[in-house]
Amino acid sequence: MPTISKEDYLKSIYTLNLQDDKAVSTSNLAAKLEISNAAISEMSKKLYDLGLISYEKYKGVELTKEGKRIALKILRRHRLWELFMIKVLNLNWDEVHDEAEKLEHHTSDFLIDKIDEYLGFPEFDPHGAPIPSKDGVLPEMPKLIPLNNCEIGRKYQVLRVVDSPSELISYLGRIGMNIHSNIEVVEKLSFDNSIIVMLDNVNHSLSEKVVDKIFVKEIEED
Ligand SMILES: [Zn+2]
Repeated sequence: MPTISKEDYLKSIYTLNLQDDKAVSTSNLAAKLEISNAAISEMSKKLYDLGLISYEKYKGVELTKEGKRIALKILRRHRLWELFMIKVLNLNWDEVHDEAEKLEHHTSDFLIDKIDEYLGFPEFDPHGAPIPSKDGVLPEMPKLIPLNNCEIGRKYQVLRVVDSPSELISYLGRIGMNIHSNIEVVEKLSFDNSIIVMLDNVNHSLSEKVVDKIFVKEIEED
C-alpha cells in the first residue's frame, strides 16, 4: 500500500470539495487516494492536530484556511510544471501529469516563482485548470458546462479536461482533441450515457466516463 503524503491528502480534499462543494467523506478520500480507511483516519488525525483540516463526524473533512493555502500552493506547482514541460520542453499533453505529480512536492517557492515569471504569469494550465497566483489567488474561470449537459446540434469549445488518468488525455490527444478544440454534439445515447461528438468532421463516440471529465463553453454563432 503506497504511503500518501500530507500534501497529496490536502490536495485531494481540495479537489473533491470543488467537485461536490461540501465536506469530503473519508471513504471518498480513501477511494481517490487508493489507501485504506485506517490510513485515512490516521492521516486525518495528524492534519487535524496541525490545524490543517476540520472534521465533523458523519459530515467529513474540510480544509482550514491554512490547509487551503497549502493545497493551492501544491496545485500551483503542479500546473506551472505541466505548462513548463509542454511549452518549454515540448512534451506531450499526456506525458506531463505524472512528472508534475512528483515535482509538485519538491519545488521551492523561489524556483516556481521564476518559472511563473518565465511563462508570463499564465492563468490556466494545459488542461484548462486555473493556476493559483503567488498569493494563492485563482483567476476567474469562464462559466463551464459539463459535456453531459450539452445539447444536440450545438457547438462547444473544450476548455477543461480533468487531468487524471493520463491514458484519457492520451486517448483524447490521439483523436485530436485538445484544450480549445471545437466540437459539435451529434447524438446523446441515453441507454449508456455516451455522447457522439464531431471533431474536424469526424464523429467520435465518448463513453460516460470520458464525458464526465470534459467541460466546455458554448460557441456563440451569428
Ligand atoms: Zn496534472
